[in-house]
Amino acid sequence: MTDSSVTAPPYGVLVDGTERPAQGGATFDVENPYDRSVICQVADAQPADVEEAVRSAHAAFEDGRWSRLRGRDRARVLQRAAGLLADALPELIPIECRQTGRPIREMTAQLRRQPEWLEYFGALAQTEEGTLPDVDTDHMNVVQRVPLGVGALITPWNHPLHVALKKLAAALAAGNSVVLKTSEVAPITPHILARLLHEAGLPPGVLNVVPGQGPVAGAALVQHPLIAKVDVTGGTPTGRAVARAIADRLIPLSAELGGKAPVVVFDDADLDQAVAGAMFAAYIAAGQTCVQGARLLVQRGVYDEFVDRLVTRVRTLRLGDPLDQRTQVGPVASARQLERVVTLVEKARAEGATVLCGGGTPDDPALGNGYFYLPTVLADVETTGIAWREEIFGPVTLVKPFDDEAHAIELANDSPYGLAASVWTRDVGRALRVVNRLNVGTVWVNDHHRLDPASPWGGRGASGLGRENGREAYHQWTQTRSIILNHGTGRFDWFGTDEVIRYS
Ligand code: NAD
Repeated sequence: MTDSSVTAPPYGVLVDGTERPAQGGATFDVENPYDRSVICQVADAQPADVEEAVRSAHAAFEDGRWSRLRGRDRARVLQRAAGLLADALPELIPIECRQTGRPIREMTAQLRRQPEWLEYFGALAQTEEGTLPDVDTDHMNVVQRVPLGVGALITPWNHPLHVALKKLAAALAAGNSVVLKTSEVAPITPHILARLLHEAGLPPGVLNVVPGQGPVAGAALVQHPLIAKVDVTGGTPTGRAVARAIADRLIPLSAELGGKAPVVVFDDADLDQAVAGAMFAAYIAAGQTCVQGARLLVQRGVYDEFVDRLVTRVRTLRLGDPLDQRTQVGPVASARQLERVVTLVEKARAEGATVLCGGGTPDDPALGNGYFYLPTVLADVETTGIAWREEIFGPVTLVKPFDDEAHAIELANDSPYGLAASVWTRDVGRALRVVNRLNVGTVWVNDHHRLDPASPWGGRGASGLGRENGREAYHQWTQTRSIILNHGTGRFDWFGTDEVIRYS
């Protein structure tokens, strides 16, 4: 167990290894969406705080206290942080539940794996090497991978610790300095993670945290001229706003944005597993995941049976206190999110969608203070309809029948998003044919939501650009420096001759 001072408030602005209040003492409340109580207050970083944080990160990068350490020395810090994080989980898990409303079973399963991200990227920091392309006999070409500089990390509320950690692990392993702008809805656990990294030996200034509002702290951060890369996870409108803000500076952007993942169920699938998988895809995190199974496409021959079994089981999902081990679905994260779900389902209904179950807030008075929405299945949704095209980001999915492989592929790809999909079939050939035609960054076969620090993660189209996880993420936090050494004995004087001599 960690010293409770590591997890305890107040949560300030973290600059140069020191926490302090935001300029002018501004704070914001973090609310528990289960009962609307205020969990704590957090410093509301202002542009002046962001300025100090970026300058601190830049100074740390330039003096090499982290950026010029050997990879194995950086790895040692990350490995120590993995151990401290594992020890802190009993304190962190309930905090994650309280700030997001996500059930404790989910948060236990997700957070238990988080130390792996530090271990994996620590291992890459130790083992990734430069290359030595074969050029010509008189020259040696050494290609180094060097860090980019100061990264701006901007994270969402649905997986607060997980998303912050995967970005931090890759950026820090590669030797960058960073400024982390946490979500204004759920900033606590990433903040504690930053404290743990310092406890593990991360030098001050390498990681600075500016909790605050997107249009204030977030906008000031991405616009700062010393930022060398932005890595944002959030909604597609946020990704576009960030891309516009940095366009003139031509710095790299990694943007993990929205989704509308199809779950494609063929008539030869193990139907029990497909129903269980579709529910898992659609309702964990009360549907608030970017890879939520938001469009359940089911082959016509098994459509009625699939829908019957699905709706029967969805009606039995237990809503309740996120801290209760028996709770299966918690509230959505905020009043704003609940309003969005209510509005979009009403619009879908007005467009002719049929509500097979759910479709409103629960009557149970015990849930009356929380932002709960009933797990919902919609049918009769047109591909032009709002429920098909828009990310609802709540416990709402839709079912639609398809005829054959070609039709399934056409429907699955009929979306501006391209983050993930799952395909359910026992036929390996069919699985591969379909997988090869889906325009998404991740496809699961007979599974959903599986991820790993080693598996690349990211989308196409409106789902964003760049990749998290895996070697790709590490490489995207570096750039190559190509060093060409002349070790030949020949003399070279281009203007001393009229001959065409080799120079390239
Ligand atoms: P959001 O877009 O409202 O906010 C995300 C972050 O961006 C927050 O920290 C916010 O303060 C900040 N932000 C907002 N406006 C900004 C601006 N103009 N400049 C800089 N920063 C700004 O998203 P959210 O509601 O926190 O999260 C939900 C969204 O995130 C969903 O669309 C979901 O699909 C997406 N998401 C994607 C992934 C993925 O891996 N692709 C993972 C999780 C969540």
